[in-house]
Amino acid sequence: MQLMEAIERYESEVRSYVRSFPTVFEKAKGSYLYDINGTAYLDFFAGASVLNYGHNHPELKKALIDYLAGDNITHSLDMASRARAEFLITFHEKILEPRGLNHRVQFPGPTGSNAVESALKIARKSKGRENIIAFTNAFHGMTLGSLSVTGNAFKRAGAGLPLTHSDRMPFDGYLGEGFDTIDYLDRVLDDSGSGVDQPAAVITETIQAEGGVNIASTEWLRHLQQLCRKHDMLLIVDDIQAGCGRTGTFFSFEEAGLDPDLITISKSLSGYGLPLAVTLVKPQYDIWEPGEHNGTFRGHNPAFVTAKRAIELFWSDQAFSHEVTAKGRHVREALEKLARKYPEASAKVRGRGMLQAIEFAHKELAGTVAKKAFKHGLIIETAGPADAVLKLMPPLTIEQADVDKGLQIIDRCIIEAMHDLGIGAPRAAGQ
Ligand code: PMP
Repeated sequence: MQLMEAIERYESEVRSYVRSFPTVFEKAKGSYLYDINGTAYLDFFAGASVLNYGHNHPELKKALIDYLAGDNITHSLDMASRARAEFLITFHEKILEPRGLNHRVQFPGPTGSNAVESALKIARKSKGRENIIAFTNAFHGMTLGSLSVTGNAFKRAGAGLPLTHSDRMPFDGYLGEGFDTIDYLDRVLDDSGSGVDQPAAVITETIQAEGGVNIASTEWLRHLQQLCRKHDMLLIVDDIQAGCGRTGTFFSFEEAGLDPDLITISKSLSGYGLPLAVTLVKPQYDIWEPGEHNGTFRGHNPAFVTAKRAIELFWSDQAFSHEVTAKGRHVREALEKLARKYPEASAKVRGRGMLQAIEFAHKELAGTVAKKAFKHGLIIETAGPADAVLKLMPPLTIEQADVDKGLQIIDRCIIEAMHDLGIGAPRAAGQ
C-alpha cells in the first residue's frame, strides 16, 4: 500500500495539515522539509512555531543522541532526574532571573493545552471564582477548558457540550482604531448591572497567531495588566505560539514590560520538536496540593536535554534576539513592498519579529496563495476566522537567502492567485 493511502485509510478524518500539504514527508534539515520523492520544501510554517531553531538543529541533535546513547533515563513521571534539574537551573538562570521573574515552573503535561488548563485551574482555585475573561479570536487549545476560552466557532462546536464559565471581550483593535477595548472591560467590571460575573483571571495572547495575527499594542497590554490589578484578577499570558523568541525576545510580552501572574509556554521550548510545556506560576499562586494536577507525561527527559541546550545556545546573550529582530524587519519591509506592488489585492501587513502576516481584502486570496506556494515548494499557513491572512513563520535561524527565496515564491503565487480569482489586471512575475 502507498504511504499516503495508508494515512487516508487508517487515520481519522480529523487530520488536517496533511490536507493542506498533501505529500509524505521523510526528512528535514534547517529550514527545509523533504518528501519521500526527495522534493524539498522551504518551511515558512515551522511546525506552528515549534521549530524556531529549524529542523534537527545539529547541536540539539547531538545533545539528544549523546543523552540517548548514554542510557540516560527517558521516562521518570515527575520523579527527580538530572535532566529535569539541569533544565530547571538553566531556565531559571538564563530566562527567568535576567528578566526579573521568580515564577515557579509547573510541568502540566506535554501540550500547550495542558499548560492552559492548569493556568485556568490555578486562577480559579486561587481566587475562588469561576469566570475567566478571554478575547475575541483567541486560541488557547482544544481540551474543554482551553476550548472554552478559544473563539473559533467551528472548533468550539466540536466540544459537544456548552462551553461555559468564561466571558468574551473585544481584543485590541476589534472595534476599530481609537477604541480602547480595555476601557470597555473596565466599565463592564465596574458595573454590577453588566451581567459579567467577577472574573478570576484574564487570559490573553500578545499576538493572536491562530486568530489572524492580531497584535495587541504595548499600551493595550499595559492597560490590561493595570486593569487586572484593579479588579483583583490574575493575568495569564498564553505565550505558546508567540513565545520562545518568535517576536525577537524570549517572551513576547517583554517589550510591554508585563509581569504576568501565569505564563504558558510550549511549542519551541524543547527546541527540537519534542513535546514539552510549562505553566509559570508566581510563587504566591502556586497553591497546588502535591499531585492535585497529575499526569503521566509531565516532563520528558529527552525534551529537557534539548530545551536546556537550546537555551544555552540561543539565550545566553542578546545576539540571537538582535538577529531575529533584524530578520523580522526585513520580512516586514518585503511584505509591505508586496502590498504596494499589488494595490488591487488591498493587502494589510502586520506582525512583530518573525511572526508577520499579510491580509488580503479578497477572502480567498490567502488560501489560494498558500495552496500554490506548496506546489512551488513553500510551506505556509493561513490564519484568522476566514483564513484570509497569510502567516509567515519561518524558523528564526533561517538564512537570509532562504527568506528571500520564500518571499519570491509568495510574490509569484500572489500574481497567479490574483489571475485565477480575476483580481486586477494580469501581469508577469517580477513586474
Ligand atoms: N495556545 C496558543 C496560543 C496556541 O497557538 C496553541 C497551539 N496552536 C495552543 C495554546 C495549544 O497548544 P497545543 O496544540 O500544544 O495543545
